[in-house]
Formats: sequence, structure tokens, C-alpha cells
Amino acid sequence: MQTLEDFARKELKVLEEENRLWPEHVLESPTSNWSIVDGREVLMLCSNDYLGLANNREIKQFAIQAIRAYGAGSGAVRVISGTMSLHKQLEAELAEYKNAEDAVTFQSGFVANFGTLSATLGEGDLAISDELNHGSIIDGLRITKVERRVYKHNDLDSLAQMLEGSKKYNKVMIITDAVFSMEGDIAPLPGIAKLAEEYGAMTYVDDAHGEGVLGKLGRGAVNHFGLEGKVDVEMGTFSKAFGSVGGYVVSGKEFCKMLRNKVRPYLLSGSQPPAVTAANLAAIRYVQRHPELFDKLWKNTKYFKEKLKKLGFDTGKSETPITPIMIGDSKKAQDLAKALFNEGVFTIPIVYPMVPKDKARIRTIINAKHSLSDLDFALERLENVGKKMNII
Ligand code: PMP
Repeated sequence: MQTLEDFARKELKVLEEENRLWPEHVLESPTSNWSIVDGREVLMLCSNDYLGLANNREIKQFAIQAIRAYGAGSGAVRVISGTMSLHKQLEAELAEYKNAEDAVTFQSGFVANFGTLSATLGEGDLAISDELNHGSIIDGLRITKVERRVYKHNDLDSLAQMLEGSKKYNKVMIITDAVFSMEGDIAPLPGIAKLAEEYGAMTYVDDAHGEGVLGKLGRGAVNHFGLEGKVDVEMGTFSKAFGSVGGYVVSGKEFCKMLRNKVRPYLLSGSQPPAVTAANLAAIRYVQRHPELFDKLWKNTKYFKEKLKKLGFDTGKSETPITPIMIGDSKKAQDLAKALFNEGVFTIPIVYPMVPKDKARIRTIINAKHSLSDLDFALERLENVGKKMNII
């Protein structure tokens, strides 16, 4: 019989052969526009900290105060003795910010998707999911007996086809990311909501990359499209634009109450500690007082994208701060990321199986902390390396 170490060695070999081994880069400073990574200062172009809140002084201060007042941990799962007044405050203010009836917070966005979908859909139901949806959606659906149909990425005709014959199911739910994390494009939510209404289906939007980025004061993609009240479930995360960690769902009162009584990680896993909950609360308050953050994020995004295109890089269909630079070949994408790192620019290569074999890319993410000279630094390095490698 093989030992555990032998088994792991074989698995690792397969992962290596399939390009699925992740090198672990170590951050030795806060995440910011410039950070210390693997011992050297580099321009950060791959963090999800869109608004630069991860190291925000006011938010940190609030988190420190929460530790003083409430301790380091909550002591239990939410339904035992782990619901603190901070959790209730966060959920109330989040619901208000999102113009929703209620909000439920979870330990992470992954848990929010996984737990909510698996608690909501089952035998006799139909889930219709975009082919590029996040893994936490896919896994949440996988553990239930719900029937699944997958439609072509952002393709309303394909979605309409999947909706044909759906009347026989108890519930039908269309599930989509709002902003796709590898492409940076936005789901056609108005068209999706219209089809949902036509066919009597429900809608579920994962707005992990839209919250704090799109909509008025970062209220997300649903707000951006003026669809508030027309989407059944909005899911979001605090791990990206809000600078900390944690997931949430905003929806109707009854649905949220049901989640509090049915989502297994909510019932069975320790609740978020005071510092994290406080940081999330402070972030929601902060963004509503700082509209200039969004202006800066979008100004930077437009500037960087336009210059990249002018240099001759292919940024695919990106419409958001997530800006892939399409390369094609996996090895070339990996070499480009390495060369850029050597030049002081931190990006990550996205290769098969995360994307098809011929669609490897590096992914850059712009944030509100970048200055124009930071972006010029990145563009200059990209131009030099891109020319050397015959990419442009
Ligand atoms: N949905 C999407 C689209 C994501 O990109 C992510 C993060 N990779 C998640 C959900 C999970 O969020 P979290 O990091 O809060 O677990």
C-alpha cells in the first residue's frame, strides 16, 4: 500500500505536468501599490484590493478597537454564542447600503456561494449557470441533486435555450458572476433579468468583483444596471474591494432568515472574529464617505487600458479594473510574468486549466492607490519586456 507522502508526491507530479502547481509568493509588507514580495519591492498589479482599503488607517484603527472591546475571537458558531452585536450591526448597515431587505454575512465569499446555493437548490430544481462562473458556485451546485445546465459565457441566446422546457421544475435559478475574474468582462444583467422574468426563473448574482467597484458608491453591478429589486440574490465578498475577508448575501427577509437556519457553514463553523467584522463594517462606512476612491479607480483603469492597447497588447473583453493581457501560449505567459517580476512589476500568469490551453494570459488588476507614475512604470516595463519577447 502506498504511503501518504508517496501519494502526495504523485499528485504533485501530475499537477506540475499540468501546469497547476502554484508558486507561493510571500508578501512581507501590507498589500499596497508597492509591496515587498519575496524580499523585493515591486509594483503590485495583482491584488484584489481595488480601493486600497486593506491597509487603511481608519479601518485598522476600528478593527483594533474591536479587539479591545470584544476580544480576538467570537467563541462559537453564529447560532450558538458566536453572534456578536458587531455582526448584527454589519448586517444591518450592509442591507441599508445595498438597498436590500436583509443581509447575512459568512466567513468568506466561497462559503457564501457554496452554503447558499446548496441550501437553496435540490432535487426537482434547475440551476442554469454561466460556463465561466466561479468555482464556489460550481461546487455549491455539485453537492446537491439539482439538475444543472451550463450556458455559453455571457450569451443570452444560449441562456434562452437553456430556459426552454424549464417550467416543469419546482424552482429555476439563473446564476452568474457579475464581473468575470479571468476576463474582467461584465455579465449582461439587464438581459438576464428580462429572460428570468419571461420564464419565471430566479436570479443569483455573484458580485465578488463588482462590489466596491461598480455602481453608486460601489454598491455593485446590480445597482450599476439599475436592477435593484429585480435580482433575487446578490452575493458579495469583503475580500476584494473592501480590503478584508468575509462573504455576504443580500436578499429578502424570509430568504435571509432561512439561510441563517440552513446554511451548513453558518451553522457549523466558527463566526468571523471581531477584528474582521469591525474592519468590514468600517469599510462599508468608509466607501460611502469617499466617492473620490471610485473616481480614482476608474481613472486609473481607463488610463492603463488605453495605454496598453496603444502599445499593441490584447486586453480581451475586459471592461473593469481586471485587465488580462492575452498571450496564448502558457509557457510564454509564465515567462512574461517572471520577466516582469524581475523588472519590479508583480502580475500573475493565468494558464490552463484555469483558461483554455491557447488562451493563457497574465492578469493585471488596477487599484485606486496607483499613481499615474506607478502605471507609467508598469507600462514602460511591459513595453520593454513585450518587445523583447515579440508579444508586441
Ligand atoms: N466569487 C468570485 C467571482 C471570486 O472571484 C471569488 C474570489 N476568488 C469568490 C467568489 C470567493 O470569495 P472569497 O475570497 O471571499 O472567498
